[in-house]
Amino acid sequence: MVNPVFMLVVLAAALPLAARGEAVGGYAAGCQTGAQALPLSGPGYRVVRPERRRHYGQPELVDYLQHLGQRARQAGLPPMLVADMARRHGGPFAHGHRSHQTGLDADIWLRPGRDGTPDEELDMVDHRLYILNRHFGDDQRQLIALAAQDERVSRIFVHPLIKQAMCRTYGHAPWLGRLRPWFGHSGHFHVRLHCPPEHARCEPQQAVAPGTGCGRELASWINDKSGALAPGPRTPWRPLLPAACRALLNHEEPD
Ligand SMILES: [Zn+2]
Repeated sequence: MVNPVFMLVVLAAALPLAARGEAVGGYAAGCQTGAQALPLSGPGYRVVRPERRRHYGQPELVDYLQHLGQRARQAGLPPMLVADMARRHGGPFAHGHRSHQTGLDADIWLRPGRDGTPDEELDMVDHRLYILNRHFGDDQRQLIALAAQDERVSRIFVHPLIKQAMCRTYGHAPWLGRLRPWFGHSGHFHVRLHCPPEHARCEPQQAVAPGTGCGRELASWINDKSGALAPGPRTPWRPLLPAACRALLNHEEPD
């Protein structure tokens, strides 16, 4: 008799990659196959604006977000608000993001308060005084810390003032290096996972420099109040996609 476990292994190996999911190309010039939809709600999280149909991702990302929701709930935090992930086949959006193309990126809104408050993204920065405002507190800090502790995370983009606050609270925590200062992330943070090892066509981003990133580099961001380090005006992003993605996205309009 054939060992059923052995049969399962054989079947799994025979499945086309598409059935298992694959991130193809770069975070800002790619696509995805075999994406999963994140269920619209689950323990510790909710998807916001599901009508945009941007709640698709690689199975690794879906698992990461569900796991983070569970950890947030265990920590007593209010439900996490998951915003844009990727389109079902990935690829560029008509406007807004450059990345989020391979099913490995997700935006999580920083929310104002505990349950009962509306599901909205709230700016945590007083841009005139260039300080964090009263909305940024323990809940927000804890959620970002939980998000950054997962080894699957390549980097998390946060406003420079938020990175500074995290450095002050968490000192020399090894995961602080994954928090990358970037303007435009004062109402949400953006999680980017590593290419899963078996995704041969996924283009990894350069590893973040060792260390916490709380020193000189952060200081240059903090001092750049004019936003000179920030990217210029957002024109629609139309990158040259890998051939496999062009074929996959051929019949789709960017949305
Ligand atoms: Zn994002």
